[in-house]
Amino acid sequence: MKKIGVLTSGGDSPGMNAAIRAVVRKAIFHGIEVYGVYAGFTGLISGDIKKLEIGSVGDIIHRGGTMLHTARCEEFKTEAGQKKAIEQLNKIGIEGLVVIGGDGSYRGAQKLTERGYPTIGVPGTIDNDIPGTDFTIGFDTALNTIIDAIDKIRDTATSHERTYVVEVMGRDAGDLALWAGLADGAESIIIPEEQYDMDQIVRRLERGHKRGKKHSIIIVAEGVGSGIDFANKIQEATQMETRVTVLGHIQRGGSPTAFDRVLASRLGAKAVELLLEGQAGKTVGIESNKLVYHDINEILKVRHILDKEMYNLSQELSI
Ligand code: ADP
Repeated sequence: MKKIGVLTSGGDSPGMNAAIRAVVRKAIFHGIEVYGVYAGFTGLISGDIKKLEIGSVGDIIHRGGTMLHTARCEEFKTEAGQKKAIEQLNKIGIEGLVVIGGDGSYRGAQKLTERGYPTIGVPGTIDNDIPGTDFTIGFDTALNTIIDAIDKIRDTATSHERTYVVEVMGRDAGDLALWAGLADGAESIIIPEEQYDMDQIVRRLERGHKRGKKHSIIIVAEGVGSGIDFANKIQEATQMETRVTVLGHIQRGGSPTAFDRVLASRLGAKAVELLLEGQAGKTVGIESNKLVYHDINEILKVRHILDKEMYNLSQELSI
């Protein structure tokens, strides 16, 4: 293999730049040319592809977002779109592609591989909802952004003796809510993977109030539904003043944490190694701090599983 390509697709996440940098530098280290595809599969179809040099990825390791931009592309879901994309790659002589993104982007990568085009997936999403890796690139940064926000909310919650409901991202996964709740000592953590019992939440809030607790924080994962609706229910049931904060897209931005930069560097480099070994249709990941890879078909068949033990612990610590 003499030329490879790299793109970012779907929702962006902090650390994608560090992954791009790793792909580019690792490839150049091995004497391979690297091409950046702009705006995900949209740029692949239109041929928005440029050669990247060592310096092209300078000064980006600490920046959130993605220098290659990202997009959602309906046309790529069609056979015609996928064929056009492969034609663009063949025109330049690019022989393999690294796709950094979430599970939707993985489906795109799977389609390219099915059409005979070697593709490797790198997990980039704040949601931590991708099987085959303990962590996805961006999760740790988003988690720290949430913690920072909740610490601030806690100050005002204490001053006003209020209950605060904080809605966090995560799509169908409760990882961000669970980790944030555990890290911030939330009273209750409401996630899609576990049923919640409103009576129990109310009893816990009232118990805390009786023993003089000045504030209560409840974290609701977006996969459960609206934080605003949830806050209304809590206020009705407890008659306590309840406020809601929907953290929204600030969770996607910001400078990646050291953990995400290192993770992204390791995973990006591993993806290049796999392409150079002649692998295709694989996804890279980290399991028990070891780099691993899996068949993309297998990964797309299974669901990410939340750590139930951690959830139980969060319940025990918030009595
Ligand atoms: P994420 O990668 O963050 O999960 P999306 O689900 O939006 O984000 O997927 C990103 C892009 O991947 C889509 O806009 C589309 O171009 C491509 N994609 C998603 N599903 C498929 C599919 N079944 N076949 C081909 N391409 C797909």
